[in-house]
Amino acid sequence: MTSQIIRAERVEKYYAQPSENRIQVISPTDLSIQEGEIVALLGPSGSGKSTLMRMLTGLSVPSAGEVFWHDKPIATAADVNVSIVFQSFALFPWLTVLENVEAPLKARGMEASERRRRSQKMLETVGLDGFQAAYPKELSGGMRQRVGFARALVVEPEVLFMDEPFSALDVLTAENLRSELLELWQGKTIPTKAIFIVTHNIEEAVLLADRIIVLGRNPGHVRTDFRVSLAHPRDRKTSAFTQLVD
Ligand code: ADP
Ligand code: MG
Repeated sequence: MTSQIIRAERVEKYYAQPSENRIQVISPTDLSIQEGEIVALLGPSGSGKSTLMRMLTGLSVPSAGEVFWHDKPIATAADVNVSIVFQSFALFPWLTVLENVEAPLKARGMEASERRRRSQKMLETVGLDGFQAAYPKELSGGMRQRVGFARALVVEPEVLFMDEPFSALDVLTAENLRSELLELWQGKTIPTKAIFIVTHNIEEAVLLADRIIVLGRNPGHVRTDFRVSLAHPRDRKTSAFTQLVD
């Protein structure tokens, strides 16, 4: 039996304007994230993907509707156990790779030797063993995003959120990182129960996701929510792109 982690019910977001008009960015939307699945939120730039994702993570409060975490309404970001990987990596430039990964554990008050041990192990998992003492500026974009993944995963988030995590990388690097991530996920090597990826890249959504939620624009609302049906996740190659079924 699958178990539901996050559920959004009729969530909406509008932004106030200097004039009386409000801009509706997300119109009433329902969605859920279940244990064991990779969900992609797909839509063109400006369709409200980041806005919707922020509401699911508790970073932003819906203008209407509600988000539930294990059936309990989210009041603040502290109510959820999630990590977010950003397109821009968002690393601390003045900290080493190891210190960057340790930072969220330090913020949670974990003792130094334990957080070092966990961070070290996570860096090995993402293929960065040997780079502990480097600074972000010494690394390529792909390696910086590996640090981003390690930092997100080291806290063992129940859901790993990613907002266009590969968009800043060149095509080949993005492809490599994407397939490594999928391999780690399928091998149950990464400590998270579900992955939610925001992307404007349909191919990326198809290659990674078990389920794809498509946002329309003006104002953003869920146009469709469908399961990707491929012979086997291992067979997710670019050619599988054409095998989409509703
Ligand atoms: P996406 O991530 O799909 O590119 P966003 O969620 O970033 O889309 O933005 C959706 C729409 O909401 C855009 O038109 C954007 O300009 C608008 N928007 C986002 N944040 C704000 C804000 N804080 N105030 C006003 N408008 C915003
Ligand atoms: Mg965005």
